[in-house]
Amino acid sequence: MSRRLSSQLQRKFPEDVYCEKHLELVQSFCVDDQILLCGQCLHSQEHENHLVCGVQEAAGVYRKLFQEILNTLKEKLEVAKSILADEQERMVMIQGEEQDFKEMIESEYRIRFRLMVEEMNFRSLQDCVFNPKLREDHLNQVLAFATELKGQSQETLQRLNDLGKENMNKLKESEGRLSGHICSLQKMTVELEKKCGKYTLMVLQNAGSSLKRSESLLLQCLEQAQITDLSLCQVTGMSRMLKVLQRAVTLDPKTANPCLVLSEDLRSMHLRNVQQDVPHSPGRFVFSATVLGVESFTSGRHYWEVDVEKATKWQLGVSEDSASRHGDLPTTSGNKVLLMGSLMGTNYTFWAFPPLKRVSLRGEQMHKVGVFLDCESGQISFYDVANRSLICNFSSLTFQGALKPIFSLCIPSGVTNSDSLSICLPPVSSCDVTVSPQ
Ligand SMILES: [Zn+2]
Ligand SMILES: [Zn+2]
Repeated sequence: MSRRLSSQLQRKFPEDVYCEKHLELVQSFCVDDQILLCGQCLHSQEHENHLVCGVQEAAGVYRKLFQEILNTLKEKLEVAKSILADEQERMVMIQGEEQDFKEMIESEYRIRFRLMVEEMNFRSLQDCVFNPKLREDHLNQVLAFATELKGQSQETLQRLNDLGKENMNKLKESEGRLSGHICSLQKMTVELEKKCGKYTLMVLQNAGSSLKRSESLLLQCLEQAQITDLSLCQVTGMSRMLKVLQRAVTLDPKTANPCLVLSEDLRSMHLRNVQQDVPHSPGRFVFSATVLGVESFTSGRHYWEVDVEKATKWQLGVSEDSASRHGDLPTTSGNKVLLMGSLMGTNYTFWAFPPLKRVSLRGEQMHKVGVFLDCESGQISFYDVANRSLICNFSSLTFQGALKPIFSLCIPSGVTNSDSLSICLPPVSSCDVTVSPQ
């Protein structure tokens, strides 16, 4: 009987399955080879020492086994679909992140350029006013540095662009792999569902092959693509002009939350687990361990540095000092710009606000944070002073009224917390500034 006739017979009498080798009706099942046997097969040398059982018994065992596999396949299918959805979501997300990062790099270099011009003016005022030769030298130096700055900016943007592409390719590859896997899982599910249908012997046909294929499908690991963090494109270096702009900020006791203890020189604060008795003050923070700086900024550029090494949870930034502010009662949003650091286990995470978003940084301990405020261009930048690199920045902000430095710790909840923050003093003399691109 030809193969075609054999399959026709099977279609006509689905319960009658014929041995493809001897074209006889099958009657038993070889457990070792996982195939159906006819009388001739059974007595052949090939299966002489093999474990053989009746078809009904084997069908029962395999039906149960395939049902179990089917359930696992369906679970895996759901997992694969959800990972695929995540990957697709990540594709959209990384494009947004890359755009944000690009804007951050561009605005940082814009500020650096402006600061460099300012640095030039500063130097000119210092010693070049009456010396045209020196002025010219300075101008040439500045032009050279401007070119260098532009080069650095383009290099960083190129690195970001390459990294963005690399990450996107990894995600697309992962998407393709997952889609293929989902397709195979769906096919296998259909195959096993058919097998476990109403015909007893169907379950045993090519049982070994189905088992092997479904097991290998189940063994495949479903993993998300490992993409590289954009923090690799962090802008390094800091303008030396920041040291000239550094202010000796002091803390305002009238605004300090009662669980904060301020030092005598008003430059550092630490938490106290018991609230102190403090005189009533309308601007006092009641719900958060926050204090404002005494200084108010309405124009110009300002910079201050804060030592955050002894704090596990801190917030730094600027707050609008509007008359409407009453303690930390909720007022209209957007009156603060903050960088938040938080120690989780041994890793630091950093968040920026507004809008609240995670800052891509290697989770290392931060020692000193620099806060730069440019009232005219509406720019606020945060720097990692020890690593001399930009953490994040905000540009084109619009401020209403005066701005004040803001400092927060986390109110202890029962556990003893000795977190503290201190403001660093500016360098004594700022006359040794030299023109430099960073
Ligand atoms: Zn046979
Ligand atoms: Zn056998």
